[in-house]
Amino acid sequence: MKNRMKKLVGQLNQYAEEYYTKDSPSVSDSDYDKLYHELLDLEKQYPELIQPDSPTHRVGGLVLDGFEKYEHEYPLFSLQDAFSRAELLEFDRRIKSEFPAASYFAELKIDGLSISLTYSDGRLQAGATRGDGRIGENITENLKRVKDIPLNLKKDVDITVRGECYLPRSSFAKINKERQENGETEFANPRNAAAGTLRQLDTAVVAKRRLATFLYQQASPTDEPSQAAVLKGLAELGFSVNSRYLLSASMDEIWDFIQDIAKERDSLPYDIDGVVIKVNSLAMQEELGFTVKAPRWAIAYKFPAEEKPAELLSVDWTVGRTGVVTPTANLTPVQLAGTRVSRATLHNVDYIAEKDIRIGDTVIVYKAGDIIPAVLRVADRQADRQDSLPIPTNCPSCGSELLHFEDEVALRCINPLCPSQIKEKLVHFASRDAMNINGLGPALVEKLFQAELVNDVADIYRLKREQFLTLDGFKEKSAAKIFKAIQASKENSAERLLFGLGIRHVGSKVSRQLLEHFGDIETLAEADFAAVAAIEGLGEVIAASLSSYFAKDEVKKLLAELKERGLNFTYLGPQRVQDAPLSGMTVVLTGKLAELTRSQATEKLQRLGAQVTGSVSKKTGIVVAGSDAGSKLTKAQNLGIAIKDEKWLLSL
Ligand code: NAD
Repeated sequence: MKNRMKKLVGQLNQYAEEYYTKDSPSVSDSDYDKLYHELLDLEKQYPELIQPDSPTHRVGGLVLDGFEKYEHEYPLFSLQDAFSRAELLEFDRRIKSEFPAASYFAELKIDGLSISLTYSDGRLQAGATRGDGRIGENITENLKRVKDIPLNLKKDVDITVRGECYLPRSSFAKINKERQENGETEFANPRNAAAGTLRQLDTAVVAKRRLATFLYQQASPTDEPSQAAVLKGLAELGFSVNSRYLLSASMDEIWDFIQDIAKERDSLPYDIDGVVIKVNSLAMQEELGFTVKAPRWAIAYKFPAEEKPAELLSVDWTVGRTGVVTPTANLTPVQLAGTRVSRATLHNVDYIAEKDIRIGDTVIVYKAGDIIPAVLRVADRQADRQDSLPIPTNCPSCGSELLHFEDEVALRCINPLCPSQIKEKLVHFASRDAMNINGLGPALVEKLFQAELVNDVADIYRLKREQFLTLDGFKEKSAAKIFKAIQASKENSAERLLFGLGIRHVGSKVSRQLLEHFGDIETLAEADFAAVAAIEGLGEVIAASLSSYFAKDEVKKLLAELKERGLNFTYLGPQRVQDAPLSGMTVVLTGKLAELTRSQATEKLQRLGAQVTGSVSKKTGIVVAGSDAGSKLTKAQNLGIAIKDEKWLLSL
């Protein structure tokens, strides 16, 4: 038994290091939890054999080199967990035996990274990770770049608060797409992406990644009587507090709430991994106290893992616009988090080698965020099925030899004439956040390419209306429509063109920032490295990428050609002028709009001078609500914020 316990401790500590310190777990949370509970059970049976370094007696997480240590004045804790209704009823029984009148406050368990924030006189003094609960990392500078963390509170108080810093799913999908295209390792899930972002040393990267927070605890002493009152107080101070909760004395009602949340889970804009149930009264909490690593007054119900086994049938390799070659697994179909899944990413060649994944294996598939599912690891391999997974040596599109650079995890095709890369670049150029040419998607790009009508983005503007009529499926009306869409795109504000060019590290937000600063693409092209690097939130990596891009002769030629074809190179975006109708106003969009897409509405609001944010707080000036608006609308109503509809927006 001692050996098994020792082995479990060693294994769990290794997984914890990968998870907390390296932000790169090699097993799923549910696998970890199973082993953890096996150890917990053994420790109950054989308390004399408990290992001194057992993870059941320590809060996970170490301090990374490069960060200053931060000693927490008030320690941070883990939570006891539950995986069934029976365990929750047992918790209820324990609490009610001491406090028959106890009621519970149930909150979403946000899947991010715990943070602690300390304010003095209402000003943010320090921010830190949890670490081992007593000593964490001082990440104040990074946390200052997280938009919804107030630098100054609404009251001049001394306070230490706790919460979760997370990455919204939409940002997660974007970051991973970018990382894949750059040949970098993708993050396993939004939690790891958030943790990895906060625990790296470049504050500019943090600013770019749109992290957000939900605060859920006051660690310094408070006069408030309950958790509900604490959260209300935190919201009043200016913190972001989650508006979905239930206050109830009945565990049955809490269970129903958990079922509701489980149904909503997929549609939330951020990941949650359960529901935390806390005794609401702070006086009762104080009496209940703590175990060695968790409060006795709280329990985390964890949702079953969104993972399924499937057989790996074959692998498709595709080339992206930057030449990175990525593998996608074809699987026996499985139902996963509400959708049927038969394809999943295998990330890159290094991932396949490291996990020793082979054709015919039973693999574990999981869904992280709302991106395509991913293969996590091999679950089983039949002894008589040992087919290796063939790794291509040549580009599946152009046949040229693939390279595996030393500092990259992916294979790369470096042929600039590779058809797949050319087509992907064109699709990107026309995409919604770039030039937004409606109708010019992968299918039409393929037809134009096959007909040898386009080879680079300038060719799009050489196309004549009649040429579309030569393509399959085009008639006068459809040809006129796409031609008009292409001509209209010439007038776009220049940040769309800049993003459309697909320069490494220059996403749509960075493009906007650059042009807000430089005004037009020509000035940007001539700007020197230091001028770009000095822009708040950008930095040297972006500056270097731009300098090398604009120095290329073929780029100079391309830009001259686009200019000659009449494309606008000037930034027309929101002029931050005083007299823009919504200047200085923070606006939140919620629900479905009938005429405008989300991005059109956002763009319109920005042009009107508004700052568009994702969550409702006291700082919100207006909420524009469409149909089926949910909790944001309710919150806005509760806070007495002005609510407008789409008609109003269109009328401006
Ligand atoms: P936990 O993450 O299960 O629960 C505690 C944490 O929940 C708190 O620290 C807090 O950050 C967070 N939380 C989110 N919303 C909250 C809310 N509303 N109120 C209070 N807290 C809230 O516990 P843990 O000790 O941080 O981590 C253990 C878990 O981490 C394991 O159960 C496992 O799922 C995962 N893990 C996975 C691996 C792996 O290799 N995959 C390794 C180690 C740990």
